[in-house]
Amino acid sequence: MNDRINLSLADLDRTSLFHPVSSIHDIEVNGPMIYSGAKGVEVTRDTGQRLIDMGAGLWCVNVGYGRKELAEASSKAMEALSFQHFFGSSSAEPTIRLADRLLTLFRETVPGSDMARVFFGTSGSDANDTAFKLVRYYNNLRGKPAKKKIIARKGAYHGLTLASGSLTGISAYHTAFDLPIEGVIHAECAHHYAFAEAGEDEAAFADRLVAELEDIIAREGADSIAAFIAEPVMGTGGVFIPPATYFEKVQALLDKYDILMIADEVITGFGRTGQWFGSGTYGLRPDIVSLAKGLTSAYFPMSASIVSNRIWDVLAKASPEMGVFMHGFTYSGHPVGSAVALANLDLMEREGMVGNAARLGPVLLDALRAKVGDNPYVGDIRGVGLMAAVEFVADKATKQRFPNGTAPHKIVAKHAMEAGILTRALPFLPVTAFSPPLSISKAEIDEATTRYAKALDAAMPELQALLAG
Ligand code: PLP
Repeated sequence: MNDRINLSLADLDRTSLFHPVSSIHDIEVNGPMIYSGAKGVEVTRDTGQRLIDMGAGLWCVNVGYGRKELAEASSKAMEALSFQHFFGSSSAEPTIRLADRLLTLFRETVPGSDMARVFFGTSGSDANDTAFKLVRYYNNLRGKPAKKKIIARKGAYHGLTLASGSLTGISAYHTAFDLPIEGVIHAECAHHYAFAEAGEDEAAFADRLVAELEDIIAREGADSIAAFIAEPVMGTGGVFIPPATYFEKVQALLDKYDILMIADEVITGFGRTGQWFGSGTYGLRPDIVSLAKGLTSAYFPMSASIVSNRIWDVLAKASPEMGVFMHGFTYSGHPVGSAVALANLDLMEREGMVGNAARLGPVLLDALRAKVGDNPYVGDIRGVGLMAAVEFVADKATKQRFPNGTAPHKIVAKHAMEAGILTRALPFLPVTAFSPPLSISKAEIDEATTRYAKALDAAMPELQALLAG
């Protein structure tokens, strides 16, 4: 007889599941949080509690939960062509149409972009791994085999595979995994509130960061630096909005030293910043763009790497001699994922979700400022489109942080959950992130921010105790 039949779902989880980015000890002691359903901007726990998901999952459920249009698109696609691989020149209609649509969308919404082809994968991490390998491939074909290093930034999040995890610039993800691998350099973090010097305005801060980049290039040798990778807005790091003039200056530097720009738009792609792509919002001219999450609103695991003509021309020219491009995955270009992505884009366009993000971003920021801006531990509130952050400090005037080893934002997140709102406590700085579905309404933002303010009030004794201790 199966001796596990009487175990609760929580105990089955505890004794069988290995969770990503979770504390083994915490699950052992407290068990998992089990979710049983979701609709619109709300998720429901198995306890019956309903929460407003101000994280849209992991910055990804852009059209909100439970959309029939996507369920129908996937069901139809599964019946028509449940799988087709794309190796050996194979292809399928939904994927062809999606590649064409993404190229058109990017060209039309990112001025000055010059993109040539789309490569598909299944996750943000594998898109960045593809970029990592493409950079090598490109420079090997160009007869520059020493030009391989990639500059990323402290506080960046690019995924957690060996290569993308190395590009990630948050040490908590490296510890005990022997990361980063060789050939990755982390430059300073472009977060003005926390890292600018006293009296340094955004443009001067950008100048300093760009001078540091140029120093790195001089130190390592321009012939060894292949690419620079950046999220247009650093998400997991803490919703760091690029300082004024930063990307313009970075782009000029990259041009000067023949260095590729990789735009990691895994979060910022598909409307999050109030435009279709963060590259458009901040004037990036990428050679490779990594996309995932919002591509299918996370209804299907799918990523895309858009490649520029600059790279494509080199690959195409060398192809007769190189033979097959030996990179790809079983699920690259999955026809069901492509059909879901097409339906997702239709839905976003029909319901004007990018415009909604642009319109409601300031509403979210104003609500946060009005409801928690006066709290003595709220140092900064910032955002663009529907991504926003509250950063905690122990002292507003000096920006002094809470003591090492404490996590005020995690305490607030726990109370937020009790108050009926999901927020994300981030791993780099003490920041709460807000990135709701782009389908959210003003009334839902009002309700969510009221709940958040209530949670912060409830957390105050514990926050004060962190400083007294
Ligand atoms: N790049 C960015 C900017 C991300 O935010 C993430 C995930 O949060 C990734 C890459 C990795 O994506 P995935 O978790 O799908 O591998």
